[in-house]
Amino acid sequence: MNYISTRGEAPPLGFEDVLLAGLARDGGLFVPETWPVLSPETIGSFAGKSFADVAVEVVLPFVGSAISRADLTQMARDAYARFDDADVTPLTQIDENRWVLELFHGPTLAFKDVAMQLLACLMDHVLAKRGQRVTIIGATSGDTGGAAIEAFRGSRRVDVVILFPEGLVSDVQRRMMTTPKDANVHAVAVRGTFDDCQAFVKAMFNDHAFRDRVGLSGVNSINWARIAGQVAYYFVAAVALGAPRRPVSFAVPTGNFGDIFAGYVAKRMGLPIAQLAIASNVNDILPRTLATGAYEMRDVIATASPSMDIQISSNFERYLFEASGRDAELIRDMMGSLRETHRFELGPLEDVMRKDFVAAAASEDDVAGVIRRLKAEHDYLVDPHTACGVVAAERVLKGEAPQVVLSTASPAKFPDAMQEITGKRPALPERLAGLLADKERFETIDNDLVAIERHVEARTHATIKERG
Ligand SMILES: *Cc1c(COP(=O)(O)O)cnc(C)c1O
Repeated sequence: MNYISTRGEAPPLGFEDVLLAGLARDGGLFVPETWPVLSPETIGSFAGKSFADVAVEVVLPFVGSAISRADLTQMARDAYARFDDADVTPLTQIDENRWVLELFHGPTLAFKDVAMQLLACLMDHVLAKRGQRVTIIGATSGDTGGAAIEAFRGSRRVDVVILFPEGLVSDVQRRMMTTPKDANVHAVAVRGTFDDCQAFVKAMFNDHAFRDRVGLSGVNSINWARIAGQVAYYFVAAVALGAPRRPVSFAVPTGNFGDIFAGYVAKRMGLPIAQLAIASNVNDILPRTLATGAYEMRDVIATASPSMDIQISSNFERYLFEASGRDAELIRDMMGSLRETHRFELGPLEDVMRKDFVAAAASEDDVAGVIRRLKAEHDYLVDPHTACGVVAAERVLKGEAPQVVLSTASPAKFPDAMQEITGKRPALPERLAGLLADKERFETIDNDLVAIERHVEARTHATIKERG
């Protein structure tokens, strides 16, 4: 399988190169040259299979001949063995026709683990084969950083540098990044927002000399393998609720358009999805875009769901590319306009997008209300991100299709927000008991590209020297 850039000015690459590259050299995102389609028989055969085995069937068409089925199967089994639920992503019913898909049973209590654990196995495999090492650079609104550090810590072929917005992630999120002692882990607090951190990552990728010097690689959801790794749970959940015989609807808490794009991919691959709901908090750029036809950035507002406090949805570019019939020139124009004027018009894509998605934004009161109601009526605790998903499901999912709300984090990851809303602090799982006492290690850097590049380069050189 080959991959092309959404901006049309980078050469196509195979799966292994896309895995290691992250962002295309023309600043675009990689998408597969064609969409693999699974037959209803194949989808039906997923019933009763383990999560790892379904993931292999869903991911293999994207890998092509780059990795053997046997190797991928071993990787998937290793990746998901670290989850603390035998089903990996269990479904819990919360209403007559509504289920919560718990994606937070991995090591860092958020859905990012599902794809990141597999991504780490894939990267390690490819780097070992090529005798290569890389510097992974990532921006995090809270959860990607911990998931990446947990997945890559101790790896001999990878340095992992994570930029997080100073003071804008929860204590638990920060500590998951700052307490690992491994020498290949570098957590960096940036005096800025998540969007600033993400812009730095993009800028470092677009600085080709720097990119080549440090062997830059990315694990944000701009990395195609992250998206591929997330598609599997749409299939697992839908099949459990009657697909492919019966269509299923999903409500997806999203900020960077990564998780919801994985749902769109599942649909393109043949999964019958009735409706796909974009769920946001008050940082509602995506619902506003759907309502007005204009993608227009505003200032980021801090909420109880910090992992969705985002105004630049990177993966939206992938969707625009698809919605436009793969018009790379149009995408370059839109992204140019976004850079210069902080907005662009969807134009004729507006109607296309309304056919593919519905959307709703939850206020902080909506979130608190849903959390309290689910606790009172069902004795079930959801975190504030998941609560945005429940709000969206209630508002915009219609019809008879079973509704699945993606639960993207455990409430235990947001104890302060949960205490404020419910009056009680959810306990961390036993295995994370040491987290709040361990010593933290991170550096704080100004909101400045040169300072950040210098820091990354110093670290990577240091570690290369250390290892001779
Ligand atoms: C990252 C994250 C999201 C948003 O994911 P996208 O990739 O932006 O779709 C939602 N909830 C939680 C808890 C997250 O960590």
